[in-house]
Amino acid sequence: MTEIDHYIANFVESFPTPMEPGVLYVSTDYSTAGHICPSGCGREVVTKLSPARWRVIFDGEVSLKPSVGATGLPCNSHYFITRGEVDWQDPLDAANAVKAQATDRRALTNYRAQTTPLPMRPNWWTRLWRRVG
Ligand SMILES: [Zn+2]
Repeated sequence: MTEIDHYIANFVESFPTPMEPGVLYVSTDYSTAGHICPSGCGREVVTKLSPARWRVIFDGEVSLKPSVGATGLPCNSHYFITRGEVDWQDPLDAANAVKAQATDRRALTNYRAQTTPLPMRPNWWTRLWRRVG
């Protein structure tokens, strides 16, 4: 596996198995995006889409914000996907990773407090999420 430096968007109902490298899959049904980690480690990164988590922007090219800190992955990658390009950031060290996760949790707690609970979803993406999260 080689490093991936460019992603194209693919809007799908559910993610294929396996995912194709260089494709950012967006499932509107599950409000979830998934892609193969650009480091070349080959692991799947699944991100929940919501105002408190990740946003996918599609303007002809695809962007994923905020950054992905794949701290659950052996490669410890940290990057944005901006208009299709992988924008590498400094690796998150353990302290920053903890801080980022705390910020993420606070954002999620605030978000949940403002919205009615979501209905239970089928669990396939929850399992994927736990694997990477
Ligand atoms: Zn990786």
